[in-house]
Amino acid sequence: MKITRSSVNTVKGPADWFTGDVYIDAVATSPAPSRVSANLVHFMPGARTHWHRHPLSQTVFVTEGIGLCQRRGGPIKVIRPGDRVLFEANEEHWHGAASNRLMVHLAINESDADHDVVHWLTPVTDEEYVASPTTD
Ligand code: MN
Repeated sequence: MKITRSSVNTVKGPADWFTGDVYIDAVATSPAPSRVSANLVHFMPGARTHWHRHPLSQTVFVTEGIGLCQRRGGPIKVIRPGDRVLFEANEEHWHGAASNRLMVHLAINESDADHDVVHWLTPVTDEEYVASPTTD
């Protein structure tokens, strides 16, 4: 058994990966051979990931606020607390907060044999983002 007290610093999501203000708390890392990790991610209003894909899929579980997500070629979807989203392996997508609300989700990832968890692509442009549906 290993207890990690609240001693791991919150990390600001780097601008290479995110648009807007995003804060990441490491919830779980696992010793090999496990390759699972979990992060609690706070997206401020309007903040979102860049387009990206996960080699072994990703599950996110919304805990607060109102969020948005989209897979390449699909419509933007509104996600709310209690909603769970599975992004399939190598499915290009993005996720983030609504323009007027923050969004918090737990993200569960598995790294592949090359230790890759995510492959980052281009930013979600304002034009792509403003195509979001209203959240009312
Ligand atoms: Mn993702």
